[in-house]
Amino acid sequence: MSATPESSPAPQAPPAAAVAKSGPKKAMEKLGLKRDIDLALHLPLRYEDETRLVPIAQAGEGETVQCEGVVRECRVELRGRRQLIVRLMEDGADTRGRAAELTLRFLHFYPSHQKSLAVGTRVRVRGEIRGGFFGREMVHPTFRTVDEDTPLATSLTPVYPTSAGLPQAYLRKAIAAAMKRAPLEEVLPAGTVPRPLPSLREALDYLHHPPPLARLGSLEDHSHPAWQRLKFEELLAQQLSQMKAQRERARLRAPMLPTRPGGLQEQLLAALPFALTGAQRRVCEEIAQDLARPQPMHRLLQGDVGSGKTVVAAMSAAICIAAGWQCALMAPTEILAEQHFRKLIGWLEPLGIQVAWLTGSVKGKARQKMLDAVADGSAQLVVGTHAVIEDKVQFRFLGLAIVDEQHRFGVAQRLALRKKLESSSGEMPPGYGDHVPHLPAQRSGIEPHMLMMSATPIPRTLAMTYFADLDVSTIDELPPGRSPIVTRVFADGRRDEVIAKIADAVAEGRQVYWVCPLIEESEALDLKNATETHAELSAALPERMIGLLHGRMPPAEKAAVMSLFASGEMQVLVATTVIEVGVDVPNASLMVIEHAERFGLSQLHQLRGRVGRGSVASVCVLIYTGPLSQTGKERLRAMAETTDGFEIARRDLDIRGPGEFMGARQSGAELLRFADLQEDAPLLQAARRLAPQLLDAHPAAAAKHVDRWLGSKAEFLKA
Ligand code: ADP
Ligand code: MG
Repeated sequence: MSATPESSPAPQAPPAAAVAKSGPKKAMEKLGLKRDIDLALHLPLRYEDETRLVPIAQAGEGETVQCEGVVRECRVELRGRRQLIVRLMEDGADTRGRAAELTLRFLHFYPSHQKSLAVGTRVRVRGEIRGGFFGREMVHPTFRTVDEDTPLATSLTPVYPTSAGLPQAYLRKAIAAAMKRAPLEEVLPAGTVPRPLPSLREALDYLHHPPPLARLGSLEDHSHPAWQRLKFEELLAQQLSQMKAQRERARLRAPMLPTRPGGLQEQLLAALPFALTGAQRRVCEEIAQDLARPQPMHRLLQGDVGSGKTVVAAMSAAICIAAGWQCALMAPTEILAEQHFRKLIGWLEPLGIQVAWLTGSVKGKARQKMLDAVADGSAQLVVGTHAVIEDKVQFRFLGLAIVDEQHRFGVAQRLALRKKLESSSGEMPPGYGDHVPHLPAQRSGIEPHMLMMSATPIPRTLAMTYFADLDVSTIDELPPGRSPIVTRVFADGRRDEVIAKIADAVAEGRQVYWVCPLIEESEALDLKNATETHAELSAALPERMIGLLHGRMPPAEKAAVMSLFASGEMQVLVATTVIEVGVDVPNASLMVIEHAERFGLSQLHQLRGRVGRGSVASVCVLIYTGPLSQTGKERLRAMAETTDGFEIARRDLDIRGPGEFMGARQSGAELLRFADLQEDAPLLQAARRLAPQLLDAHPAAAAKHVDRWLGSKAEFLKA
C-alpha cells in the first residue's frame, strides 16, 4: 500500500491470492502465532453455543441463539436507508403461523448476501433476538446455508482473541489444524504433575472445544481443571527458565573486584558530607560481597525516592575502579544522567577518578574524545543515557554496570549492557592480577557485574517470581533530618487557593514544582497544558521567574532551565513528567500535581519524592478534575494516607493487580498469559517445588517444557 503515490487514481487492490497469503497470516504472526504450539496455546475468550437449535418461539428477547429456517422472502427495502430484509420460516411453521417467523435485517450488505439468502434456501442463523415491529428479528446475524441433514456442532464454538485482518473463521481453522500437528505429548515425567489435573493434550482439546454441557462459568473464570493445568504449565516454565538462568549465571565469570582496606570506597566515605544510614551501609556490604566473587552480580537495589541510592552507586563504582576496572552508570533521561554526573564528579574526582559524560547530545570531536577515553580505559566512570550502550561505545575493562530507574529500560537494553565486556580485547587491567588470586585464564565469557536501581519497590513475592534471577537489596530507611511530606487533595475548582499557596512558599524563599499531566495519546496536548499553566502562573506571580520544562525541548535548553532551578534563581518550575525521575533540588518544598487522577500511584509517589529532600516541611498538592473513578479515588486516598513507598507499592498492586503492575516494568513483554500470581499462589508453590527437581533429575524434559512455553522469549527472561 505504501507504494501508492498520492496522485494516482483509486489504489488498486492487490491480487486476491496475495491477500489471502499475506493478510491473515501476517496478522497471526503479529499476534505471536507462529509455531503450531503457539496456536494451540491461543485460547478462546468465550464460546458460542452452536450445538443446538432454539425454536424461534422459545427464544427470549435479548438472548443470543441459533435458529434455522427456510427463506420465504428476500428483498431490499428503503426504510430510511437501504436495507436487506430476509424472512425465515421455521420447519412446521405453517401450523404455528407468525410465532415461527424470524426477520433478518442487514443494514450493510453485498449482492452476495442476496444470492446466498435466495428464497427457498435453508439457513442456520445466530444472533441476538429482538422484538421488532414485524415480529422477532435479528440484526446482522451470522448465517450459513445448510441442508436438512447438516449436523449441528458437537462442541461449543470457540471465540478467539483476534485482531484486524484476521477473521475468526480463519483463525479457528488455523488453530484446529495446528492442534492436530502440535507436539502436545506429555513431557513432564509421570507423578510430577499435581493430580487431578488433565494432561496438556486433554486440557487443550477441552478448552478449544468444550462439550455442549460444559460449565461455562468455570471456563470463563479459569477455575476449570483444564485451565489449572495450563496455568501450572505456564508457571512451571517460568520457574524453570529463571532457575536455569540462575544456575547458568553461577557458571558465568566476572572480574573479581575485592575491596581493600583504605581503598577508594573508604576514602569516599571519609569525604562525604554525611554518614551513611544503617540501611545504606548494609546494602553497600551486600554489594561489596557480590563484587568480590568471580560470578557476575545481578542485584536489584530498591529504595524509596530520596533514600540515597546514588551514594550507594558511587560506593560500588569506587570498589570497581579501585580494582582497576571501569564502571558505567546509565540513567533513563538526560536530566537525570546529568544530575548523577554532577554529583559523582563532586564525590569522585577529588579522589583522582576520571568521570566521563556520554549522552546523545555529546557530538562531534567531544564525542570521539569521549569514545576514545572509554575504549582506552582512561574514563574510569562513564555516566550517561542510552548512548552508553550504543555499538560504537567500546569499553576496555567494564567491570560494573549500574542502571538507574531500571524499570524504565527494556530487557534488551540491559542485555546489551551485559554484552559490553565480551566485545573488548580480552586483556586484563594493568596490575589487576597482583591483588586478585584465581584469575580466569581467559577473558572470553566474562560479563560485568550488574546493579539495577529502582525507586518503585516491588513487593517481595513479586520480585521473587519475576526476577528469580535477581538478588534484591533494599534501603528501608530514609536519611535523617527529612521532614515528612504532607499531601493534600484539591478539586480543580480550588486552583486559586493553590496559586496563593505557591505565592506564600515563594515569598518564604522556597521553590515550587508544578507538574502537568501526561496525556499519552498526544504530546501536543501535553505541551499545551503545560504552556497554559506556565502563562497562568507567570501572570499571577509577575515578580518571579517561572520556568517551563517539557519533553520536546532540546537537551541543552532543558539543562539550562534545570540549572536555573537547581541554583535557586528560578522559583517555580512548570514541567511535564520529564522531572519524574531522580531530580534533586533540596530547596523545593512544594509540589503541585495537576490532573492527579491521570497518574498511576507509583508515578505520583515518584513525583512527590522530588520534594521533602531538605529540612523544611514539604507539601504535595494533588489537584484533580472530577468525577473520579473508584480506582482514582483509591489512588488519591492512598497518596494522602501514606508516604511509604513500599506501602504505596502494595496498594498499587491491590488496585491494579500484578499483571498490570508488572506490565509497566516489563516494557510490554507479556510474561504470564494465563496464571495470576495472587489467585494461583498454590499452583505457583507447586511449580516452584517441582522446578529444581526437574532440572536435576530430568533436564531434557525441563528444556522441552521451557521451549514449548517460552520459545524465543526464554532468552529475555534471563536479563
Ligand atoms: P534516590 O534514592 O531517590 O536516588 P538520592 O541518591 O538522590 O536518592 O539521595 C537523595 C538526597 O539525599 C541526596 O541529596 C543525597 O545526597 C542525600 N543523602 C543520601 N544519603 C544520605 C545520608 N546518609 N545522609 C544524608 N543525606 C543523604
Ligand atoms: Mg535516584
